[in-house]
Amino acid sequence: MNPAKRRAIFERLREANPDPKTELDYTTPFELLVAVVLSAQATDKGVNKATARLFRVANTPQKIVDLGVDGLIPYISSIGLFNTKAKNVVALAQILVHDHGGEVPRSREALEQLPGVGRKTANVVLNVAFGEPTMAVDTHIFRVCNRTNLAPGKDPLAVEQKLDAVVPDEFRLHAHHWLILHGRYTCVAKVPKCPACIIVDLCEFRHKTRLVEPKTVARGAVKRPAARVPARRTRG
Ligand code: SF4
Repeated sequence: MNPAKRRAIFERLREANPDPKTELDYTTPFELLVAVVLSAQATDKGVNKATARLFRVANTPQKIVDLGVDGLIPYISSIGLFNTKAKNVVALAQILVHDHGGEVPRSREALEQLPGVGRKTANVVLNVAFGEPTMAVDTHIFRVCNRTNLAPGKDPLAVEQKLDAVVPDEFRLHAHHWLILHGRYTCVAKVPKCPACIIVDLCEFRHKTRLVEPKTVARGAVKRPAARVPARRTRG
């Protein structure tokens, strides 16, 4: 994809949503960190429901340590993998208390050493909590970048590096939010909503969906609503 087209895509996404936000509820970097750790293989809505109750009683590393794994589990048991996540959240809270003065570190290396925190989670925290222009490549961004040819790559790290290399500076802070939301609501996994897509003329996906009118099979036949033609599956 050429740079002019790439720029035009981000201009459209920015125009439609000038100040995109994460859909996870949080008020501090620690709350964000916990919410992101809990969100692996879970919906933001489900995580928000759990953290709304949890953060009322424990929203600092020390309070989570005091709660302990057994005390934390009832708050997050509606979320997938809650046993493992409870252990990770308590363990990372202990490290923050002992090694970081109870604060979330603003460093990729330190973040990635916390239990349950991988590169993507570190990128989300650095971007959302600290305003760093990082690209947190999740399944939605991976799919959108490959389908559109905006920043193709064989795995999330390759896509992240490509985005780092090609996204113009003025779009870097919000790029991952725009792409996540585009993938979550428009360029969805099974049947992308190409007819409603604001970048349809810029996207280089070869199997865009379209609306087709059903053929009239007999005089007087009732006209049915237009049907959506599914696209072929792609990676991601
Ligand atoms: S045109 Fe279709 S495939 Fe391309 S970005 Fe939009 S929804 Fe996705």
